[in-house]
Amino acid sequence: MALVTGEVYRCGQCGCEITVTQGAAPGRGGEQNPTCCSGHPMTKVR
Ligand SMILES: [Zn+2]
Repeated sequence: MALVTGEVYRCGQCGCEITVTQGAAPGRGGEQNPTCCSGHPMTKVR
């Protein structure tokens, strides 16, 4: 799952959210879900 500009990810444990402002280029990482500042895995909201 590559990061795409405009997607929103939320941490299910501490509730913080991030918005992707710059998508990852293909083959240059960004294929894994991001983690919050506490290291929790984040899930895509939209
Ligand atoms: Zn968290």
